[in-house]
Amino acid sequence: MVTIAGAGPTGLALACGLRQFGVDVRIVDAASGPATTSRALGLQPRGAEVLARLGALGDLPDKAIRLRSLRINGAVALDMGFLRDAGQLIVSQAWVEERLRDRLSALGVQIEWNTPVASVSGWDWLVGCDGAHSAVRKMAGIAFEGESVMENFLLRDVHARWDLDRESIHVLLDGPRMTTLFPLPSDIWRVMSPDGGRWTPGPIDSVVWESAFRIHRRQAAAYRRGNVLLAGDSAHIHSPLGGQGMNTGLGDAENLAWKLALVVQGRAAPALLDTYEAERRPVAARVLATTTPATRVAMRPGLVSGALRDLMWPLLTLPVVQRRLVRAASQLDVRYSGPLAVGRRGGQRVPAFARVGRWVLAGPATGLEVARERLGDVVHHERAGDTLLVRPDGHLAWRGPSERLSAWLNEVLGVPATPRPTTRS
Ligand SMILES: Cc1cc2nc3c(=O)[nH]c(=O)nc-3n(C[C@H](O)[C@H](O)[C@H](O)COP(=O)(O)OP(=O)(O)OC[C@H]3O[C@@H](n4cnc5c(N)ncnc54)[C@H](O)[C@@H]3O)c2cc1C
Repeated sequence: MVTIAGAGPTGLALACGLRQFGVDVRIVDAASGPATTSRALGLQPRGAEVLARLGALGDLPDKAIRLRSLRINGAVALDMGFLRDAGQLIVSQAWVEERLRDRLSALGVQIEWNTPVASVSGWDWLVGCDGAHSAVRKMAGIAFEGESVMENFLLRDVHARWDLDRESIHVLLDGPRMTTLFPLPSDIWRVMSPDGGRWTPGPIDSVVWESAFRIHRRQAAAYRRGNVLLAGDSAHIHSPLGGQGMNTGLGDAENLAWKLALVVQGRAAPALLDTYEAERRPVAARVLATTTPATRVAMRPGLVSGALRDLMWPLLTLPVVQRRLVRAASQLDVRYSGPLAVGRRGGQRVPAFARVGRWVLAGPATGLEVARERLGDVVHHERAGDTLLVRPDGHLAWRGPSERLSAWLNEVLGVPATPRPTTRS
């Protein structure tokens, strides 16, 4: 049994992922019920793919706003038109969580609200998906290393009738004043202002909710201590600039789900879980490393930041810069390395199988028996040449002649083959 502390996007995605592999799951949350505020507003292409693999994307693409550009004082600085339908979806985090709860319920799991985890002992497996102030992390004695990036940041969701196009992010600059506006579905604007500023381009009809907070960059010193693991905000926090927080948590959850399922089902030794931190720590570290300086330059008032901004905005208009920024934000370029990323293009996302959400063996059927014996549910795709084994998260695990597959599986799984019934929800 895996117990998950926290029914935010990370914990819910992990619970769905584990259930899809037939693992018994308990998910508890300290709150009295689901959060209703929007918080994260961007579902990056990678986040949408994770939800699709979990069967939880639902109608979100239809309800979302698709961003076409970023405008600075009205002029297009970043054109996202080249993405067509593959760009960021602007949806409320509350909607994402709702779709995940629906999916989890269909998989037979109910969330236990009003149930804070108060100890890290006594569990078979405990995963702390309990957010930035994670009690699990603290009780496990894992440090949260980092620093404060910005002291006073104001975020508001408002109803307002401003004369601005609703397919763009708008950055408004006026001397030392600065505000960023994001269009949200349901005719809402997200207003983000550094230094607690309240400058807007016109009157506000009503405030849906607002939150003043401090931006930190922190990462847990370890993602695992024995049978206790961390994922999502409990493992890393950073600036909301770039809309990476929820998406990185969804990616953690998916990466952990199939590995933990193999371990819980006795198909792999617990050492397989070391690859979870090895693969996911660099992804969050990159987000911390890129969003921190960008936040300091883009959001800080003052002459130095203003001068840097004036230098940097023209760079944003270069197509090569735009493509790199958008690609990095999409998280589709995440590439893993290590024992689960073997052969040419090993560790890269395989677009052809990115939506399957199950192990895929692409090659002659000769490797299928051994793959199913070791991994359980495996989909077969006939293909000439080398055999490819694609992970449930859509990355290439292994490429080679099929007669070598068994030896590699023995090595990475670390336990002898024990035939088990295949389970898949
Ligand atoms: C105001 C605000 C604005 C944000 N804006 C953005 C944005 O624009 N873009 C972006 O990408 N990200 C944004 N984020 C960050 C984003 O919301 C998080 O990255 C995301 O929620 C992380 O999901 P999570 O499931 O890891 O943690 P959370 O969503 O924090 O969920 C943690 C859950 O654990 C529960 N919990 C806490 N303690 C316990 C306990 N002891 N036992 C059991 N349960 C417990 C909590 O009740 C909560 O339900 C924002 C966050 C905030 C607060």
